[in-house]
Amino acid sequence: MAMTMVEKILAKASGKSTVTPGENIWINVDVLMTHDVCGPGTIGIFKKEFGEKAQVWDREKIVLIPDHYIFTTDKRANRNVDILRDFAQEQNIKYFYDITDRSNFKANPDYKGVCHVALAQEGHTRPGEVLFGTDSHTCNAGAFGQFATGIGNTDAAFILGTGKLLVKVPATMRFVLNGEMPDYLLAKDLILQIIGDISVSGATYRTMEFAGETVKQMTMEERMTLCNMVIEAGGKNGVIAADETTFKYLQGRTDKTFESFHTDENATFYSVGASRAEHYRSYDVTKLEPVVAKPHSPDNKELARNCQDVKIDRVYIGSCTGGKTSDFLHAAKLIKGHQVKVPTYLVPATQKVYEDLFSLKHDGKTLSEIFLDAGCIEPAAPSCAACLGGPKDTFGRLNEPEICVSTTNRNFPGRMGNKQAQVYLASPYTAAASALTGYVTDPREFM
Ligand code: SF4
Repeated sequence: MAMTMVEKILAKASGKSTVTPGENIWINVDVLMTHDVCGPGTIGIFKKEFGEKAQVWDREKIVLIPDHYIFTTDKRANRNVDILRDFAQEQNIKYFYDITDRSNFKANPDYKGVCHVALAQEGHTRPGEVLFGTDSHTCNAGAFGQFATGIGNTDAAFILGTGKLLVKVPATMRFVLNGEMPDYLLAKDLILQIIGDISVSGATYRTMEFAGETVKQMTMEERMTLCNMVIEAGGKNGVIAADETTFKYLQGRTDKTFESFHTDENATFYSVGASRAEHYRSYDVTKLEPVVAKPHSPDNKELARNCQDVKIDRVYIGSCTGGKTSDFLHAAKLIKGHQVKVPTYLVPATQKVYEDLFSLKHDGKTLSEIFLDAGCIEPAAPSCAACLGGPKDTFGRLNEPEICVSTTNRNFPGRMGNKQAQVYLASPYTAAASALTGYVTDPREFM
């Protein structure tokens, strides 16, 4: 029977030869990730249901990543990390990316930063596998041809004890992107365009599979940006078939063997077009323009050039969506030689990204030099920082009703702090261009 890539992954994980959308199946889990926000709750449920002395199902398949509320004096936030540490020690968890010295994160060789980028950089995102995480942007890992999705604490506790989960097989919506990517567009523009087209509920409980020549040409980081935001359309997961680019990225990051799956040409897709007969939505990327998501929803799409009268108070470049090395490289290329007009906050997703800012060069200068010369605020320690608001002392948090252009993924009221603040979601190019003018700006003005 013809199947999609995700159906094949789930069939393998359930020990069946075929599965169909809507079917409820028990699957074996390859990786479970939790972080400082949901980890303590997950651990509490695990102990309540399985017993104080219960052992996790597999200490090598669990990844604990403190990343959300790290560089804060908030005692409850700090305590959450302590709970993860105690549990990691008690269970001898193999992958615990600890932070012990918050005053100097560079002195913490184990500390990574934002979970979704860290999972990829540390080789936990392998094609053909099943990854669950207690975080909605776990879908990020679909970029590697993995079935990856967010779950709640109760499901995660069940996995801790059993290594299994009951899931309903999602139908697949296919998005085919063709054409050579214009040099003013980034993957963020494409996913904001798609979410704007299908709405924040347009893919509810469905797989969003991305294919086509444009996707094949993308780096892994750009593919991650596409998959990262499928949850903003309600998607269960996003997925891209693994290829040479994927295998090259994984080289040296994992020694585990994996199997990659591909969608059969005659597989059945969920109809996504205007007519039920249309089985996939296709885009010619050469015809697209830089877009933003206006407040207060990721599907509130508008062309960046139509927002040029929107005066802004700050720019934020960071998060699992827009705080990867290439995101900063793109921003730096645009900013180089200019001065920012508004406070510009830089939050590298992980330690590795942070290091890249100080070692990677563009036109003879490190990215960090380019940003500092332009008047940006010094790059912060890697973490989720203000993407999720966080405690009042969080770096970059919108504590006032300000207007911000951000490379993050959500702009619901209060998401980055103040409930009256307005967040425009944008690509790193658009964010950088906006920093240079103090208004929402189409990056083509600087290209
Ligand atoms: S960076 Fe933002 S979206 Fe990503 S995991 Fe952290 S809080 Fe969530």
